[in-house]
Amino acid sequence: MTLARRKFDTLVIGAGGGGLRAALQLAQADAKVAVVSKVFPTRSHTVAAQGGINAALANVLPDNWHWHMYDTIKGSDYLGDQDAIEYMCRAASNLVVELEHAGVPFSRLENGNIYQRPFGGQSQDFGGKQAARTCAAADRTGHAILHTLYQQNIRAKTHFFDEYFAIDLIKDEEGVILGALVMSIETGEPLLIEAKTTLLATGGAGQLFRTNTNAHINTGDGLAMALRAGIPLQDMEFFQFHPTGIAGKGMLISEAARGEGGYLTNKNGERFMERYAPNAKDLASRDVVSRAIFIEVQEGRGCGPSGDYVNLNINHLGEEVLNKRLPAICDSIRTFLRVDPAKDPVPIYPTAHYTMGGIPTNRQGQVVVPIEHGEEPIPGLYAVGECACVSVHGANRLGGNSLLDIVVFGRAAGNDIIGYLREHRYHRPINESDVEQAMAHLTRWDRKGDGISVAGLRGELQAIMEKYCGVFRTEEILQQGLEKVLEIEQRLDDVVLYDHSKIFNTARIEAFELENLVDIALATVKSALSRQESRGAHSRVDYPERDDKHWLKHSLFYKQDRRMAYKPVRLKPLTVDTFPPKERVY
Ligand SMILES: Cc1cc2nc3c(=O)[nH]c(=O)nc-3n(C[C@H](O)[C@H](O)[C@H](O)COP(=O)(O)OP(=O)(O)OC[C@H]3O[C@@H](n4cnc5c(N)ncnc54)[C@H](O)[C@@H]3O)c2cc1C
Repeated sequence: MTLARRKFDTLVIGAGGGGLRAALQLAQADAKVAVVSKVFPTRSHTVAAQGGINAALANVLPDNWHWHMYDTIKGSDYLGDQDAIEYMCRAASNLVVELEHAGVPFSRLENGNIYQRPFGGQSQDFGGKQAARTCAAADRTGHAILHTLYQQNIRAKTHFFDEYFAIDLIKDEEGVILGALVMSIETGEPLLIEAKTTLLATGGAGQLFRTNTNAHINTGDGLAMALRAGIPLQDMEFFQFHPTGIAGKGMLISEAARGEGGYLTNKNGERFMERYAPNAKDLASRDVVSRAIFIEVQEGRGCGPSGDYVNLNINHLGEEVLNKRLPAICDSIRTFLRVDPAKDPVPIYPTAHYTMGGIPTNRQGQVVVPIEHGEEPIPGLYAVGECACVSVHGANRLGGNSLLDIVVFGRAAGNDIIGYLREHRYHRPINESDVEQAMAHLTRWDRKGDGISVAGLRGELQAIMEKYCGVFRTEEILQQGLEKVLEIEQRLDDVVLYDHSKIFNTARIEAFELENLVDIALATVKSALSRQESRGAHSRVDYPERDDKHWLKHSLFYKQDRRMAYKPVRLKPLTVDTFPPKERVY
């Protein structure tokens, strides 16, 4: 097979908000940038973000970045790195204004300022009254941001490889990343993209679970590519379950619904969140609300004939507010539930939503790995967005902080890469041996005949993850889960594509995705089994308390030998005092 080659200063893998924000920074600095995406860029999952992006603009209620920083650290259950969190919260206002100037059509207040709504886990004055920090373009904020960033990239002459699938990173003997092997989905032809720097921005892995809010493409490919390149994954036990998914289906009803005044009730019509979070009530942190719903249903207070969901009430808000502030959400409710949200309560249940863990990076977006005394960057490799773990979300992300994360660290990585390119002006030579492994991987799934289908095995994996690695966990359940995922890994060898002469490239892509999901499932279950405490989204029934003495540390999972290692949380912020861990109540 002949291997076509292209050369760029920077290869960005992923065209969501993270990848596009970084690419824009680079293209505007006249770097030669390639963006590879397995779907057309504006179909990346960022497009689905509804609720908004956090910044302490204080347009609606008093606010400042220091309160935002406190809320984010508390939300993270003190596992977030405080230097990165300070950096993000301080940068937020400038970045939102920059988005506004780039063309994002934010919703407006009467006085013309950007509209901001209250979201979960937000407070004024370090834990006081509810804040209103989430800047919104109705309930289509991600759509507005992604389209704006795409258009700005077209203007800045970023080079797009649309519908190309990245298979593996290329690494030389000294561990420097030299680009990646990608494949055209249309033709199946491989392409080697050589780059002085490579940025992973491949998004999350919500497809690990059967019921989830994520796009079908969110299979965590970048995470698996990093694992195969010998890089560990950080904090993979922390997976966010969003409290309000459409019951039985999983699509998201944004927290904006509760931010605008919606509330939850059980079958007795009781506003049960008042018992679990007396102050914040329905706007407590997501992990807290998800667990509360789960307990209500478990204890027999669920609604409906099978008692397997609770109700979200937004009908009292009135048609005008619903149409103005939550139009897309109302649309989803009508389409998927055949319920009129202006009249009737909406059945909801927690659904897998966000990958807090990921590829370890510093706040410049460089991928960093532990060495004997500290850590060091992998030369030429960066990661931003949901595939990265910088870590600003720690054990639980606050709503509205992920769109912020992608633009803040997308820009930071872009800036750092500009500096790197100044010091590394030439491409390093690529040896054939550097490419061999990736080329061998390329044909791994060209198998026909009798065997297991990709879709079937993916479905089994998702059901296992949901049952054995869900909202509540125990040693016994996780151990069973680990064994079942290992069985699935064995059965990958029996996977075949189509039993006729032609293999479609889309089928081949789904096989690559399944292989990636299996690796990430192992990382998730193994990390969850190892962490013997409850913190944020990781809730162990057998270890119900947070244990700062032994577990205030980040976990690292290595593919080789499925080894776990740990590294300290960076508790020291950049300029202000540390927020020391304390009991987390809402
Ligand atoms: C329904 C929903 C609503 C949300 N609402 C909000 C919200 O209101 N506020 C908020 O802050 N956050 C929200 N989030 C979270 C937030 O939207 C995401 O975390 C964020 O947009 C992720 O951006 P990203 O750039 O990291 O990745 P994505 O936008 O997921 O993009 C990933 C990119 O990588 C590409 N890619 C992946 N694998 C490969 C491969 N192998 N080869 C080539 N390309 C590849 C894809 O094609 C895509 O372009 C929401 C998430 C969901 C699912």
